[in-house]
Amino acid sequence: MKIICIGRNYTEHIEELSNERPTDPIVFIKPDSAVLPKEQDFYIPEFTNAVHYEVEVLVKIKKVGKHIASQFAPSYYDEVGLGIDFTARDVQSQLKEKGLPWEKAKGFDGSAVIGKWLPKAKFEDINELSFELRKNGETVQKGNTKLMLWKIDELISYVSKFFMLKKGDIIFTGTPAGVGKISTNDYLSGILEDEEMFTVKIKG
Ligand code: ZN
Repeated sequence: MKIICIGRNYTEHIEELSNERPTDPIVFIKPDSAVLPKEQDFYIPEFTNAVHYEVEVLVKIKKVGKHIASQFAPSYYDEVGLGIDFTARDVQSQLKEKGLPWEKAKGFDGSAVIGKWLPKAKFEDINELSFELRKNGETVQKGNTKLMLWKIDELISYVSKFFMLKKGDIIFTGTPAGVGKISTNDYLSGILEDEEMFTVKIKG
């Protein structure tokens, strides 16, 4: 199983990190070892002083596909989820400065929080899903898939040009505005529409 992540897929988030608007989606991969086991607390790794949360809508691929055209993308996933792409922002900044790959900042153990899965059929329009992240009960990120620069089906089409998609692969579709740092004893929860999808406790 692989985790394919999209960077800078929401306009406001681009402005926040003062990045340039990309001409193509930014794509990176987390290894399967990045998945935070269910019910497990997240321990801030010692190589970073700035782990940021990025709440993201997820889709789970249900069959093998390569060079998938956008209009056929809906038949490649039945389940939608919500997760966190934990990012060691200080490490990422150093790597970015040197033009080096992001894996150490993005793919470390526990950096992929994957909540529960809901059937896509439950939702009227996958391109209009609201979601949010709460930290200690307070909303810190709020987004809607209608604000994506590249919609879910376009993302599936795009990434499948480079990576064969396989059953069980997960796509993290990018984060909206409001990313921020976590601290020991924080308690995060993710909400998709009206449903709580995950909770995570942060340990130091
Ligand atoms: Zn992300």
